[in-house]
Amino acid sequence: MRSFVYQRATTTAQAATAAIKPGVKIIAGGTNLLDLMKLQVETPSTLVDINRLPLDKIEETPEGGLRIGALVRNSDLAADFRVRQRYGALSRALLSGASAQLRNKATTGGNLLQRTRCYYFYDVTKPCNKRNPGSGCAALAGFNRIHAILGTSNDCIATHPSDMAVAMRALDATVETVNRDGKARAIPIAEFHRLPGNTPEIETSLRSGEIITAVTLPQPPPGMQVYRKVRDRASYAFALVSVAAIVDSTRGRIRSARLAFGGLAHKPWRITQAEQRLTNATADTRAFNVAADAVLEGARGFGGNDFKIPLTRRTLHAVLADVTKA
Ligand code: SF4
Repeated sequence: MRSFVYQRATTTAQAATAAIKPGVKIIAGGTNLLDLMKLQVETPSTLVDINRLPLDKIEETPEGGLRIGALVRNSDLAADFRVRQRYGALSRALLSGASAQLRNKATTGGNLLQRTRCYYFYDVTKPCNKRNPGSGCAALAGFNRIHAILGTSNDCIATHPSDMAVAMRALDATVETVNRDGKARAIPIAEFHRLPGNTPEIETSLRSGEIITAVTLPQPPPGMQVYRKVRDRASYAFALVSVAAIVDSTRGRIRSARLAFGGLAHKPWRITQAEQRLTNATADTRAFNVAADAVLEGARGFGGNDFKIPLTRRTLHAVLADVTKA
């Protein structure tokens, strides 16, 4: 790891002002950033620690939702009784991520901003357009078992690694930010993460000098919530495919459905056509297949990850059968 200057921010304006300067990185839990620094994928000249900012509360909103401070730790969010009662998919998604030690450190804002786990991104001897724009993509013809099948480009096939963000996408969360002038912005989570296109190094719609202050959840939608994660081992592994599902059904008839997927794309993947096709449908194999067809439209494997296409279909079937059986 290279030497760097360490500073502590006491206000969000101070942190936002510092974040504009080249070479400055904001640190909160540091569970991803410190790994990147050890591998010299990130070599900041200054780290600005925001852990003392007052952004660690979970509060009720007047609209009946929750406002989650950017510094709320993943383990505290998962354990909050309001989250467990009303946003079960979010609680389960959080608990399926990383390890207990990492969840104790990782923050809500940092979880949204974590970088891909593409092997080549972490290996500075390999070409990677995300790490070094214009250098190429070693994953295209390389070992791409964990890579994307949807929304890919010729420049990058990486996935977003967050479980939390997938559940937040199904819940229609909003990301709140502030800049150095104190100007606040509310970004729907659907617009927060980007597809790679020909600029895979730009991963979010966050502007220079903007700091995430909170994530707001609206009132929970009706229906049963689940989060199912398929991975190579039972813990401490990223999703090959994950599904956050919120399905309102009775006696085998689906009234409404929300479905968001992880492990498939550069951002949490949600296809409203799939949800529309399930609305007012009988919960059976035919309906599940129609929804899966909509989710997988345009899916493309790159050799090592071809299995994700049938795996996504089977996982969706299993989840929908589960939540509609009552
Ligand atoms: Fe880099 Fe993206 Fe290619 Fe991975 S998939 S090597 S992150 S450009």
